[in-house]
Amino acid sequence: MSCVQGRQYPGVAGAAVAMLLSLGVVGGQTVITPPGNRYSVSDDVEIGRQAAAEVAQQLPILGDREVTSPITSMGRRLVDAIPPEFQHAEFRYSFDVINVREINAFALPGGPMYINRGMIQAARNDGEAASVMAHELSHVALRHGTAQATKATKYEIGQLAGAVIGAIIGGRAGGAVAQGTQFGLGTAFLRFSREYERQADLLGSHIMARAGYDPRDMASMFRTIEKAGGSNGPEWLSDHPNAGDRAAAVTREADSLQVQDQFDDRGAFADVQARLRRMAPAPTTKEATRAVPAGGSPSSPAGSPGLGRVEAPSSDYTAYTEGNLFRVSVPSNWRELRGSHSVTFAPDGAYGDANGQGVFTHGMEIGLVGTETPNLRTATDEFIGSLAAGNPRLGRPSSYDTVSIAGRQGLHAILSNVSDATGQQERIEVFTRLAGDGGLFYALGVAPRDRFSAYQATFRRVVGSIQLNDRDPSPE
Ligand SMILES: [Zn+2]
Repeated sequence: MSCVQGRQYPGVAGAAVAMLLSLGVVGGQTVITPPGNRYSVSDDVEIGRQAAAEVAQQLPILGDREVTSPITSMGRRLVDAIPPEFQHAEFRYSFDVINVREINAFALPGGPMYINRGMIQAARNDGEAASVMAHELSHVALRHGTAQATKATKYEIGQLAGAVIGAIIGGRAGGAVAQGTQFGLGTAFLRFSREYERQADLLGSHIMARAGYDPRDMASMFRTIEKAGGSNGPEWLSDHPNAGDRAAAVTREADSLQVQDQFDDRGAFADVQARLRRMAPAPTTKEATRAVPAGGSPSSPAGSPGLGRVEAPSSDYTAYTEGNLFRVSVPSNWRELRGSHSVTFAPDGAYGDANGQGVFTHGMEIGLVGTETPNLRTATDEFIGSLAAGNPRLGRPSSYDTVSIAGRQGLHAILSNVSDATGQQERIEVFTRLAGDGGLFYALGVAPRDRFSAYQATFRRVVGSIQLNDRDPSPE
């Protein structure tokens, strides 16, 4: 299966849960209230500063002024249009283009923003590109990163910075950096809740209108990204699903917005795109950040996983501790592979890359995802929905049974899937349980269909060993 990595946020398709807690409508235009945040504005700046230093080391920043200077101008125009109530004098917005091909963009707390070359090349015009930037700027201005971390366990600023970069690069492609990532943090940081995404869409549309862009370009950008697909992977959309609903919501909001001093920079933007087209094609993020897994074999070529003979699980077990979050014992011949917000345990020959995604064929992934619901069943449905985004042939459970996980009731189901790595049928055993800090703790056991029954006892034993360090779920 493809690992649960990257910045997909939970509750993908279909969930009709309206999350309007802090959104009210006054006179047509939606009023946006930033979520609660126990971090200071200067914490945002510090986290962003540290993470930006890592980004500069890990990702290929494009140095071409003919590209970066018009993009920076667009960014400045948008920053100036952030409504005054969301301006933070300490923030330092910056705009870098990353020479990678995925359609994506992200911004760090405190202001550093990164726009993938793939995103610029996919946009149909300056307004579409501006819409993605305005959305990402809104996450920064509303301080969603630290607000999200506020909901999770208390972390040190340095851990948060490490988490940001781990989540950006994703999985073990990040090498040493991803290894520094604290479990759960990538999620806390970049897998924003639906409500935060909705806020970023709406504030983004306000910023666009104030900057002189047509906010409807955001709706059309959702469609552009959705259509792009293919090997470039509409990555931003996988973090931001429900394109149709969101396009409709933004279009509705646009009706209440007055576009100020219509701004049209199509010519300059088209020049940027033409210049990018003349350059050698951008690599994927995986190619650009390729690193040898700690103690592992050298990376295999893109699209061809480092898969081979797989030893049966050892009957000796080794204890593994993830920060102060959990302990687990796993077969001692399983290697530990840190993801952005999860840890995968798999034997040699059972993990690799396919289509730029981390995949594994035998073993277990254990992690924590954000969830907005205190209902275990709903949270589990949403989690499996988010898994399906990276595993399109994943079956859905018709029902769950209950299991005990670390002393509390959890849910369990067995799903069918077709492995991205081998094209063969596999089984995924899903275990979930609410975590005290409001997330969903999960363990996924994966094995080829014909080996699955032999692995089930191992999965049970691993899950039985889990000790989770959490408080009781709050009854609110
Ligand atoms: Zn977003």
